[in-house]
Amino acid sequence: MILVGKNSNKSNTIIRIRDKEIGGGAFTLMAGPCTIESRQQMFSIAKAVSQCGATILRGGAFKPRTSPYDFQGLGEEGLQYMREAADKYHMLCISEVMSPEEVPLVEQYVDILQIGARNMQNFSLLKAVGKSKSPVLLKRGLCATYKEFLLAAEYIVSCGNPNVILCERGIRTFETMSRNTLDIAAVPILKELTHLPIIVDPSHGTGLRSIVGPMAFAAMAVKADGLIVEVHTDPDKSICDAQQTISPQMLSEMVEGLQKIGNAVNMTIAGTTTQRRNSSHEKLQN
Ligand code: PEP
Ligand code: MN
Repeated sequence: MILVGKNSNKSNTIIRIRDKEIGGGAFTLMAGPCTIESRQQMFSIAKAVSQCGATILRGGAFKPRTSPYDFQGLGEEGLQYMREAADKYHMLCISEVMSPEEVPLVEQYVDILQIGARNMQNFSLLKAVGKSKSPVLLKRGLCATYKEFLLAAEYIVSCGNPNVILCERGIRTFETMSRNTLDIAAVPILKELTHLPIIVDPSHGTGLRSIVGPMAFAAMAVKADGLIVEVHTDPDKSICDAQQTISPQMLSEMVEGLQKIGNAVNMTIAGTTTQRRNSSHEKLQN
């Protein structure tokens, strides 16, 4: 690891996108549905998650579904909805890109390109996003070691793009009662090995709605740089990944808990003030 290794760059990488920072010491909240379903859905979710303090809207438009018969995403139309919703609520947005040919299209609409777990070692895709100017969120592969994960990031950085965020999203183990095994130790271990920011995905990391909050707390306790969480205004009706999707109310309660953990580990939630979060919680309660 020549470029992503801790030794190559003494200070930690901070990714700056407009007025937001990832990896600058505050905890970034990315939230939104698994998949973009409609214009109205994106606007109502963007409103709800931004009230909770999320500064980056997530949503898949090109979905890597295990079955070819499952919903594959709205494509460009979905990206348009997400961009409009993000702009309305002063958020950044992130979406997955699945092939090198799609990079120019996806980056026309989003602020951060997401490389999904299944594509962590798609080397032509890594090279393509490495030539892009957009920041990249790289998800850990389902069975990737830390070394393989970091070498995948090295592909992107060595192609000229230094703005890479790592994402621990659970790995496949012998466990069958959760979707994946969220490797929380990956955060402090990778922080010893690399200067890149690292966030946690407790949604895909567990596949279980009731465990998303507790794992989010764990992520902050180990000083991750943030979270990416699946949220839907009607979680059970989510077209994709309903069982791991939380409601805005659950997100709001999660943020309250994160504030308390933040006090203990000396971390604040990025881009929010205590006052704004408190008033949004009241609004959601009413
Ligand atoms: C996603 O975040 O939309 C996703 C498909 O996650 P992963 O690549 O981690 O499975
Ligand atoms: Mn999902």
